[in-house]
Amino acid sequence: AKEAGRANHQFFTPELNKRASERMWLESNLRHALADNELELHFQPQFAVDGRRLVGAEGLLRWRRRDGTMIPPGQFIPVAEDTGLIQPIGDWVLGEACRRAADLIARGHPLLIAINLSAVQLRRPGLADRVAFWLDAYKVPARCLELEVTESVLMDDSDMVAGTFARLREMGVALAIDDFGTGYSSLSYLKRFRVDKLKIDRSFVTSLTDGSDGGAIAEAIIGMARSLRMQTLAEGVETEEQFGGLARLGCDQIQGYLLGRPMPYEEFAAFAARQAAV
Ligand code: C2E
Ligand code: CA
Ligand code: CA
Ligand code: CA
Repeated sequence: AKEAGRANHQFFTPELNKRASERMWLESNLRHALADNELELHFQPQFAVDGRRLVGAEGLLRWRRRDGTMIPPGQFIPVAEDTGLIQPIGDWVLGEACRRAADLIARGHPLLIAINLSAVQLRRPGLADRVAFWLDAYKVPARCLELEVTESVLMDDSDMVAGTFARLREMGVALAIDDFGTGYSSLSYLKRFRVDKLKIDRSFVTSLTDGSDGGAIAEAIIGMARSLRMQTLAEGVETEEQFGGLARLGCDQIQGYLLGRPMPYEEFAAFAARQAAV
């Protein structure tokens, strides 16, 4: 066993070694991040193209370490998914989104708050119960909450996923498909699930103006959404040129650095108040 261990060791290049230890660090510290209040939900504004009206926000998870450093979600969400920590973290996100939605309502801004769900969260029973629990706990109407899932979740033909979506639909919670067009090519799931909104991935927004496909894909998505009576929201809009192109194609909503970056809640509440005053 000792020899095997030594032999194995040779496969660990310094690079692999570094990644493995980073991962171990993330695993052991992520366990405490939730308990120690190191997680924050930031909010990125979403606007109706029509009148550039603020209509909602996407809640995006942030991990702020006590030393002030921020760890982006792309780094720790995969670890949370692998370790099962995504269950308590996802539940916290749901509760936090409802708490903030209730506060916005109290301040006179009944906005739609969207959050991201991992496939892992949907493959476990009880998600619809937790959504119902948090909505009731903060007395938030279901129509103020939107859940974003990726296409892979809808390709899962388990009864669990279908049952969960049926219940969420009954409750009146909105469902959006995130990163639409980047995942699976089969669209058959659109017949099985009620979907309220397609979020057009940033890559298609970029190609609107970089001359590659001239926005053919964005145009096709918007056309399809319209005929299926779904809304469209374009993500990662950074320029007025992109905004104009999407407006011409008939896109309903816009999210991106052009109109607002993700920001801590208090900043977002002030942002919403300024928008309402315009
Ligand atoms: P996503 O859901 O596709 O979120 C959009 C990402 O694009 C966010 O990165 C956002 O900050 C960034 N973004 C927004 N506007 C622009 C823009 O104009 N230009 C550019 N270049 N980027 C823009 P972020 O916050 O780092 O989140 C990364 C991913 O982490 C998210 O991608 C989502 O998949 C995941 N994530 C974030 N919060 C949660 C969460 O609470 N639960 C789960 N399961 N996943 C989450
Ligand atoms: Ca998202
Ligand atoms: Ca996205
Ligand atoms: Ca994404």
